[in-house]
Amino acid sequence: MEINPWGNELIKDYEELFTEFGLQHVPEELRKRLSESRYFRRGIVFAHRDFDAFVKSADKKEKVAVMSGIKPSSRFHLGSKMTAEEIIFLQKKFKAKAFYCVADNEAYADNGMAYEETAPLAVDNVADLLALGLDEKNAVIYKQSECLNVLNLAQLFARRTTLNTLEALYGHQNLGLYLAVLTQAGDIVQPQLGEFGGKKHVVVPVGIDQDPHLRFTRDVAAKCGYVLPSSTYHRFFRALNGETKMSKREPMGILTLNDSPELVRKKLVRAFTGGRATVEEQKRLGGEWRKCVVYELMLFHFEDDDAELAKVKRDCETGKIMCGECKARRVEKINAWLKAHRERRKKAMPKAEKLLSR
Ligand code: SF4
Repeated sequence: MEINPWGNELIKDYEELFTEFGLQHVPEELRKRLSESRYFRRGIVFAHRDFDAFVKSADKKEKVAVMSGIKPSSRFHLGSKMTAEEIIFLQKKFKAKAFYCVADNEAYADNGMAYEETAPLAVDNVADLLALGLDEKNAVIYKQSECLNVLNLAQLFARRTTLNTLEALYGHQNLGLYLAVLTQAGDIVQPQLGEFGGKKHVVVPVGIDQDPHLRFTRDVAAKCGYVLPSSTYHRFFRALNGETKMSKREPMGILTLNDSPELVRKKLVRAFTGGRATVEEQKRLGGEWRKCVVYELMLFHFEDDDAELAKVKRDCETGKIMCGECKARRVEKINAWLKAHRERRKKAMPKAEKLLSR
């Protein structure tokens, strides 16, 4: 089994990851403790590495940090929203300093986008992050290309890394992507530098596709005497066609936080569902919510109320509701959320510009 951070394949068997890559299950006790987050409560965050060590350290009132970021190659989509909400939750819950990297170097390496192209998207992305609730007073928000710390750390890690190690983890890639990997390791270790209070537990909430970066960073962090970073992993959110993971490379398969109400409607009309071939059949057999991307939208993003979600499930499997009506209701709910978010975002824009112009 391979995990490719730059591909868009779905994971067929999540359980296999535990044996193949040594991931740890999130213990029930911890899930309960973190149940205010629907990602933990609903098992969307399904695995971790040493997250328990991070929690223990925070419980002892030691300084801890949470780190993640975004490649500014497009506007926020639901995948970016998920990571951002996890950072915000962990920042609040554990009083962790949040480090948010705008990975413009990676956008160049992976997508060939120049800094002039990514700069406005970076501001846009940070405005989304603030609108979702990040406390910028307890955060370090920076562009990779302007952060000497991470570039120096990348240099340090490069001395401890061979091409064979990178090829074994990532397959044969161009040197730009390998450089992006080293820089990302720098991003993850940066919170442990002296100017941020020295060595500490850092947790990185990411999608499971990013695990190779974590394995690599843990390896070089150990070689260079830093505390091994912890991580939490969420399941993939599928593209609206239900076939691949949601990726910026396929615009009609993703919802962005800037989509107009009409575009949201259009995208949802085409979305893959668990509906039956005919209305008659659906009334008789019920829909298959387990296969349905529209249900997943509610589960992951737009329905915080578990009782309401259970009702959607019940109405679906008993054939009480047809997909057309179900989608129309979800479109309304999603558009209401997006409208409120856009207003918050507009207010956050000047702050985002200021934060990135420092
Ligand atoms: Fe999905 Fe709703 Fe159709 Fe059920 S009724 S399959 S939840 S769209």
